[in-house]
Amino acid sequence: MKYIYGPLKSRRLGMSLGVSLTPYKVCSFDCVYCQLGKTTEKTVEIGEYSSIEDIVAELKLWLAHHQKEINDLQYITLSGSGEPTLNIKIGRLIAEIKKIVSVPVAVITNASLLSLPEVRRALSGADLIVPSLDAVTEDVFARIDRPHEKIKIEDVIAGLVSLRKEFRGKIWLEVMLVRGLNDDLRHIRELQEVIQQINPDKIQLNSPVRATAEENVSAVPRSKLVKIKGMLGDKCEIV
Ligand code: SF4
Repeated sequence: MKYIYGPLKSRRLGMSLGVSLTPYKVCSFDCVYCQLGKTTEKTVEIGEYSSIEDIVAELKLWLAHHQKEINDLQYITLSGSGEPTLNIKIGRLIAEIKKIVSVPVAVITNASLLSLPEVRRALSGADLIVPSLDAVTEDVFARIDRPHEKIKIEDVIAGLVSLRKEFRGKIWLEVMLVRGLNDDLRHIRELQEVIQQINPDKIQLNSPVRATAEENVSAVPRSKLVKIKGMLGDKCEIV
């Protein structure tokens, strides 16, 4: 299979079938903690990186051969080896999936393009959006996510606030914390204020445990994660 992977069981989403919408590491970020390795094409150019017709055909094939497993799926998750919202036809893909199977659709995104109304509209048919927010200041953003030069953190935040106002499904905000990069408590307090404005349904705190794009990327100690969880309130969980 070229576009479909799994199903995989994750702490965040339970059992989910993955769908990749871009070739390997076509992404608007080059996060230091990326488990896929370094970004090979850093871009904000939206296009049909992978053919939606081909993805749907492959999904139909998978479904036809895995009738029993369909009932165990909690989500079909649009994510994969790059940033899925870079695919201009993501909205069409969500609509096509809804026509062929009743499993809820989740989108995992780095949130970089949510400032664009057409991208938010394209995601409106999803059941769950899991956007990332690792930084609220430009310098922390540059150090941890290494975004494309056209992406500014204030636009990412404004996009997330707009998404919350427009989107009817659930939003689980993921915050990846890296020791010494974005876990300073002053930064966490600023993050807390921004998260209040965004008002997601859940906040999922994460810290890298597997091999990452850069060496010397360390997880935040559990005791500090627990303290940060306390600062971010009842909706926050450590995943
Ligand atoms: S946004 Fe996701 S795919 Fe892109 S570099 Fe970061 S972790 Fe990797």
